[in-house]
Amino acid sequence: MHVLNFFIVPLILIGLFFRIEFSYVVSLLCSLGAATFIYAQQSPANILFTIAIFNLTPLFCRRFNLIWRRQRFSLKAAKETAKLSYEKMQKESSIIRRSNFHLTEEAFGTSELYKMTRDMSAAADVGDAFNILGKRLTELFRFKKCRLILIDEEVGLSRIEKVFELKYASPEASVVDVEPSDSELLKQGFHIQKITWLDPLVLVPLTAENKFLGTLGVEGLSFDKLETFSTLANQFCLVMKKIKLYEKIQKLAINDGLTGLFVRRYILERLDEEIKRSARHHLHLAFLMIDIDRFKQCNDSFGHLTGDAVLKEVAGVIKSTVREIDLAARYGGEEFSVLLPDTGKAGAAGVAERIRANVDRHKFRAYNETIKTEVSIGVAVFPEDSTASRQLIDKSDQALYRAKQGGRNRVEIS
Ligand code: GH3
Ligand code: MG
Ligand code: MG
Repeated sequence: MHVLNFFIVPLILIGLFFRIEFSYVVSLLCSLGAATFIYAQQSPANILFTIAIFNLTPLFCRRFNLIWRRQRFSLKAAKETAKLSYEKMQKESSIIRRSNFHLTEEAFGTSELYKMTRDMSAAADVGDAFNILGKRLTELFRFKKCRLILIDEEVGLSRIEKVFELKYASPEASVVDVEPSDSELLKQGFHIQKITWLDPLVLVPLTAENKFLGTLGVEGLSFDKLETFSTLANQFCLVMKKIKLYEKIQKLAINDGLTGLFVRRYILERLDEEIKRSARHHLHLAFLMIDIDRFKQCNDSFGHLTGDAVLKEVAGVIKSTVREIDLAARYGGEEFSVLLPDTGKAGAAGVAERIRANVDRHKFRAYNETIKTEVSIGVAVFPEDSTASRQLIDKSDQALYRAKQGGRNRVEIS
């Protein structure tokens, strides 16, 4: 029987692992082997058993081979599917990684933009805003220098109003002299619609309400930073627009924000007109210069907020003392001026004295404080003291100075 084992084991292995047809061939060969045994006069039971084994083995093998193959196939399929899904996963993860990178970049850009916008919103003028832009630029990029070339809006493209410059090495923005290249940059900026890369320069045209304001030029910026720079530059442009608008409104405003009185520019314009009108109609015109006495002390003792409240109330007293046709203005800091049409020296002295007395007896209440304050007043009258507005103001100023010298809380007539 050990001879049979010698045949059967390879037969099973062939049937199991190789093509089933091989096991049939081998089984045939084994049957021939069995016939040899018959000739060797083995017992009939032995011969039958041998033949049965040789013929049944391929059948079992076929069965197991099928199972094995099926399993191998499903294993292979599973492996294939796993490989495919692994590849898909890898692809997806690279997409996610990429979009994550973009998102991080975007988030970074947005937070930078937010920081810059927040800082810039506090900027009072273009120089301030450019300084803030410069600070951000030096934090984010490497570049050589950045120039902001502004045109004179009144004259137009032919005249540069101001050039600001900041260098990467010393990022404090400063007003610099106009160079011939600035006019070139300005003109180039005028001809482009949007941010433009002109290696080694990046040019940004600055426009507000379709009006060209100037050009922003950066030298030595690397190309891959262009997009982030573009976002910052656009934001700067928006801030410029806001500042320009604010300046325009400031120019148009005729009332002082704190006191509600007219602003100095307005009363000066009106003084010129009133002088002409008074000259035409042979009328007098009085100009009063009023200054709060020792106002610095008031600020120092009670604080600026209380000082502001006092300023506002003094303005109220002045306004309520003069006539409807008189013009009261905040001339500057704690100085006021009043224009009294059709008023001569005696009349002006009377009004000035009433203002002084009303302020003197007024109890100023601010933030739980009761404060007393006084004013000194200088008076000048057209045409006696001068027929020119500038000189009339100077005369009233000199009279005011005398009032201060004379002990304050007084009226001095020119
Ligand atoms: P004098 O009697 O000689 O006029 O003395 P003064 O202290 O009033 O004059 P001085 O020019 O030394 O000081 C003016 C002060 O007015 C200093 C400044 O801080 C204050 N002042 C100017 N504008 C404002 C303002 O808008 N609000 C407040 N709170 N203070 C102001
Ligand atoms: Mg003063
Ligand atoms: Mg004063």
